[in-house]
Amino acid sequence: MSEDHFKKLVSHCKEYGFIFQSSEVYDGLAAVYDYGPYGSELKNNIKAYWWKAMVQMHENIVGIDAAIFMHPKTWKASGHVDAFNDPMIDNKDSKKRYRADQLVEEYVERKVLKKAEKEIEKARKRFGDDFDEEQYKTTNPRVMGYLEKAKTITTRLNTSLTNEDLEDVKNLIEELEIACPESGSRNWTEVRQFNLMFNTQLGTIAGEAGKLYLRPETAQGIFVNFLNVQKTTRQKIPFGIAQIGKAFRNEIVARQFIFRMREFEQMEMQFFVKPGEQQKWYEYWKEARMKWHQAIHPAEALRYHDHEKLAHYADAALDIEFQFPFGFRELEGIHSRTDFDLGAHQELSGRKIQYFDPEINESYVPYVVETSIGLDRMFLATMANALVEETVPDADGKDSTRTVLKVHPALAPVKCAVLPLLKNKEELTSKAREIFDRLKLSFACQYDEKDAIGRRYRRQDAIGTPFCITIDFDSLEDDTVTIRERDSLQQERIAIADIDKIVSERVNMKSLF
Ligand code: ATP
Repeated sequence: MSEDHFKKLVSHCKEYGFIFQSSEVYDGLAAVYDYGPYGSELKNNIKAYWWKAMVQMHENIVGIDAAIFMHPKTWKASGHVDAFNDPMIDNKDSKKRYRADQLVEEYVERKVLKKAEKEIEKARKRFGDDFDEEQYKTTNPRVMGYLEKAKTITTRLNTSLTNEDLEDVKNLIEELEIACPESGSRNWTEVRQFNLMFNTQLGTIAGEAGKLYLRPETAQGIFVNFLNVQKTTRQKIPFGIAQIGKAFRNEIVARQFIFRMREFEQMEMQFFVKPGEQQKWYEYWKEARMKWHQAIHPAEALRYHDHEKLAHYADAALDIEFQFPFGFRELEGIHSRTDFDLGAHQELSGRKIQYFDPEINESYVPYVVETSIGLDRMFLATMANALVEETVPDADGKDSTRTVLKVHPALAPVKCAVLPLLKNKEELTSKAREIFDRLKLSFACQYDEKDAIGRRYRRQDAIGTPFCITIDFDSLEDDTVTIRERDSLQQERIAIADIDKIVSERVNMKSLF
């Protein structure tokens, strides 16, 4: 997937009503987006797929919907007040703000690893089929030099960040002579920590005590409700609590469309287990979540990435990465969070947050394995994977290009379009309306009579509608219609009475399990 494909994707999202820039009439608000009519349908379908897989398919997982605002102590206990920071640096000439760690990482990528890659490519051409990349990387002095340099810089960056030695991060930026991409100058401020939580003020309480945060993750709403949910549902460990909801992060650098937003949605599940059993469940969820993705995306576009640097509360963590048009990036995180969160809330609230395990006659603070996926990132992955341009024969048998969204039928925003062959023939339109009025009870349907049939097909292709039904003069005689399938372009004659059953079967979420 190329940058060009990404540009097409962004403009397709706008042109066909999937995603709009927020407040576009005022030139937009950076890193905030609105979902349009087809976007919100697709988003709802992704949510439904997740909810089905996580909550409804597991007897021991229940769902909640917690508020965005939480008691400010929540964020003290979770560590977000003190440690949810990114290191930032400003360029004094352009006044642009950057993530200091990303400036260094980009330098490594562009100025060091790219050079190694170029050498490797040259050698590949020179040696042809005999080329052994691994051997070349470990024997060619120039390539070894670049790789060694990349490793030295990355290790130093990670050590400085871990030790909170921001002065050294600044020194590194200066030593590498990194310039501001905007102004080209190296006139930098010091590196400072920047807290990513948005805050607001409660009207009735002045000062610090009334300071509220917009939640930066949905997980804490689950942790503070652990006992409420466990007691009211009588769940026994191991069990999970799931939730879908908005989260907010004041990202310093927000780009790549809906990949990194300041307001976004998460789908998170916290699975509570007996201490000591976390590894087993970590492995279970690692497999289960990958399977969920593979039902939608091709296996080669997905991979695991183990975290080398673990957060202070985690004893294992990995990302499921997706091959976005700009490279493999995190789509979902799976974290073994130990008893950190429940333990911290227990301590700060002074309330006992423990589970009484009848099997061992003991109370304990459960351990947690978390699965956390960004809904918007899943949306982007789905669109990126589904949007294709292809050459197909048109009505006259000539080649023509079509843009088609080959999204899984269960996720498609519209399942079926009902199209009378001609707009100004009342017998056809009233028959079509009658069919449409019946089908819309079963699934998302669209009635369209404007323009030639070929153009209407193309419009449905562009929004990913898996089936088009055409009502022609024969339909009036024998109660049959033509059904056209989006991907194969196959057309078939079927009885009107069978449409509902045929389409329902194909668009049902069952086919994803
Ligand atoms: P990243 O390293 O990309 O900033 P993260 O490791 O901070 O992500 P988590 O805190 O693990 O992310 O959040 C869980 C999931 O929420 C991520 O896998 C991602 O899909 C999603 N997510 C996180 N931040 C954003 C954002 N700013 N915009 C959209 N989705 C996000």
